[in-house]
Amino acid sequence: MARILVTGASGFIALHCIDQLLAQGHEVRGTVRSLSREAEIMTALAEAGHKQANLSLYEADLTKEAGWDDAVAGCDYVLHVASPFILGVPKHEDDLIKPAVSGVEYVVSAAIKHQVKRVVLTSSGAAITDTHDGKTHFTEADWTDVSHPKTSAYYKSKTLAEQRAWALIGEQSGAQKTELSVINPTVVVGPTLTDDIGTSNDFIRQIIAGKVPAAANLHFGFVDVRDVAAAHITAMTHDKAAGERFIVSAQELWLIELTTFLRENGYQKSPTRRMPNWLVKLFGLLDAPTKQISELLDSERYTPADKAKAVLGWQARDIHGSLLETAAQLAKMGHAK
Ligand code: NAP
Repeated sequence: MARILVTGASGFIALHCIDQLLAQGHEVRGTVRSLSREAEIMTALAEAGHKQANLSLYEADLTKEAGWDDAVAGCDYVLHVASPFILGVPKHEDDLIKPAVSGVEYVVSAAIKHQVKRVVLTSSGAAITDTHDGKTHFTEADWTDVSHPKTSAYYKSKTLAEQRAWALIGEQSGAQKTELSVINPTVVVGPTLTDDIGTSNDFIRQIIAGKVPAAANLHFGFVDVRDVAAAHITAMTHDKAAGERFIVSAQELWLIELTTFLRENGYQKSPTRRMPNWLVKLFGLLDAPTKQISELLDSERYTPADKAKAVLGWQARDIHGSLLETAAQLAKMGHAK
């Protein structure tokens, strides 16, 4: 049994990490911005079968130094999952970049100070795929170009935060060094453990609720949240995971493939028509989130998880099953109306 800190315990992915760690018998700490979310987290874990969850919560904010020392001290491992994540466009890109980078600084510095064995950082495919060089097939050797004018604030935040983590780990001196392993998931779907559906599932909610009139020509990898959590936990102790980043992705889909699949499976408001690129660009003149999407039109993004499979023995479940589970849960929660 180990003692593990999971940051952002209220989040979609973090709560699945906590669920799996508890099921494996570990002692878990979690950070939240406000302890007012404690009851919600404990209820979710009880519903997931953890009646007496071996979890203690600490208050800490990615923008403030306070709290991180206490939360990290005495932990064997840290899963740093928390980071600001929105589907739209922030007022200012620093609203996403600053907390993402300062959060890494506080968490990784505290981990080094307290001689944590390994930090597993939740980065993203977003830190890999915006190379803006015409590439369509990506590996862990690729990095998003943060200086490119078309790179969005969220992609920059994930890239700069991951780069800061690698730099801090690389600057260590002394005999005992904290290790770093990084997980780069593509778009994460799957069942949520709380009523908070999470940012990425909100995209599925919009589709089944009829808020997406037609499918723009977008291409992304998708992966189930339970498989993402499992990758974090394997990377935490696997002897070949230290110093490595791992793409975790089940399958790439064009948006039209996803929406058509949902329509064929009973979600009648899911669009089966494509939105022409010119129309997306026209809407983008009036609407910042649509403008952001328009920068990704026609951009094929293949992100195979070959390395995670080969090194970690990681496996992904069929993404179509995950999409149906997600949509069914959202519909049951009343989100398909
Ligand atoms: P989520 O449910 O929105 O979780 C984000 C978490 O970050 C929440 O717990 C949130 O806390 C916390 N957070 C945000 N700003 C914070 C701050 N200033 N101080 C402390 N905590 C803060 O999203 P998620 O999908 O689980 O995302 C978790 C991680 O996975 C993020 O690093 C995200 O970039 C990464 N990721 C997600 C996807 C995806 O498709 N979902 C794909 C690739 C990578 P509050 O509850 O207090 O807001």
